[in-house]
Amino acid sequence: MNMKHLQLECLTPADITAALQQRSLIYMPLGTTEWHSYHLPVGFDGLCAHKLCLLSAAQTGGLVMPPLYFGTGGGHGHFPWTIMPSQEKIGGLLETALERLRDFGVKQVVLYSGHFPHEQVNLIQTLAQTFSDPVFRVDALAPSLAKDSLPVAGDHAALFETALMLGIAPEHVFLKNLPTVTEAPDVAETRMSDVSHPLYGISGPDPREMPETLPKELSEAMLKWIVAQVNR
Ligand SMILES: [Zn+2]
Repeated sequence: MNMKHLQLECLTPADITAALQQRSLIYMPLGTTEWHSYHLPVGFDGLCAHKLCLLSAAQTGGLVMPPLYFGTGGGHGHFPWTIMPSQEKIGGLLETALERLRDFGVKQVVLYSGHFPHEQVNLIQTLAQTFSDPVFRVDALAPSLAKDSLPVAGDHAALFETALMLGIAPEHVFLKNLPTVTEAPDVAETRMSDVSHPLYGISGPDPREMPETLPKELSEAMLKWIVAQVNR
């Protein structure tokens, strides 16, 4: 599905004005650059956030900014291919973006973070509170805030994240990179410390044991929750 008409970075000023006249809403998908084990790309959180925001914008109207592939928090800073700037750095950048979007007359901004440790979620919630006023609304959304509406709890590179991406953009999931459960039964205790562990860096239920219906069920529930929050 081509969604370029919803991607801000692909549009001319006239296209942007026309779209925002329909609904003055901008999505800011937030991710990070972070190790997501051997079966998921390091830009996972941003890729996932971007696709979800596009799917949501297709229903709500509004446009989607390019994803930010830097986020903060989560305690995985030492993992390979992980770049985790401080809360101050990410916060400063998001503040500048929100100030400019407000200057442009945008009425609603959705900060959707696919990276959702509490440091990052606190940051976007604080920004939403600080910036929101009667004429400029900022929503802070993340999978951890949707937990009561979802069939499984959020995790890191485990069942939840793998299923969610399988549901919206399966081309980014490489479960074949992991040995089968028979070849390498899980030893959960050493997953976060042993780089030779086939599930290194996976925090949560083993994604190799994927219920067949979960990707569709989870991604539909996630999208429904986002749309409901945006239209609330
Ligand atoms: Zn993630």
